[in-house]
Amino acid sequence: MNSQKTILIVEDEKNIVDILRFNLQREGFRTCEAYDGEDGLNKARTENPDLILLDVMLPKMIGFDVCKTLRAEGNNVPVIILTAREEESDKVLGLEIGADDYITKPFSMRELSARIGANIRRSGMAAPASAASAAASAMPVAGELSINTDSHQVFRGGAVVELTQREYELLTFLASHPNKVYSRVDLMEQVWNYGYVGSDVRTVDVTVRRLREKIEADPANPVYILTRRGVGYYFSV
Ligand code: CA
Repeated sequence: MNSQKTILIVEDEKNIVDILRFNLQREGFRTCEAYDGEDGLNKARTENPDLILLDVMLPKMIGFDVCKTLRAEGNNVPVIILTAREEESDKVLGLEIGADDYITKPFSMRELSARIGANIRRSGMAAPASAASAAASAMPVAGELSINTDSHQVFRGGAVVELTQREYELLTFLASHPNKVYSRVDLMEQVWNYGYVGSDVRTVDVTVRRLREKIEADPANPVYILTRRGVGYYFSV
């Protein structure tokens, strides 16, 4: 089986696309490119990329709408938003609509490679034979929640919960250390595998909120992922 990973670049600035394509191919990735949002959405559906680099300001359809549409279709491909430096609010908005990460332009290839490495779809995430058999062999973790670590799927009351890879990794990390409280910086290091600093810990809060909306019956009164005020988050059992 060919293990070469495909990265879809959705960016309307041709010189940026050229630099990205050159560097990513040199690192062993296959690339495909789209220069507007509509084409980006089509290629995300048809090329089955392992990761998408997604610019925000794009002709025909903005990056946020591309990401939102993919998530609404149940497509959980890792998405890294490319933002311009002056658009700080884009970072949080991008995460809230389902992106996995963001990187601020201009960025170094070294920085981008680290982000890609931390976010790309893991190999060996085989599709389960069927949702029913994956649910049956899932391990109960708490309450109605169960996790199948072979198929990387989470179930609530037997029904599959669609999570992004990062949401899945955050949940399984916390659930595998029940009742242990982790600070946002701890979680950045353990789950994001990347040396984040400063205000980027906001990423943890947004991801926790999204995760609660998917796994909790009442996200405002969570029972699985709890907040220890002033300290961090923990998985309650
Ligand atoms: Ca642009």
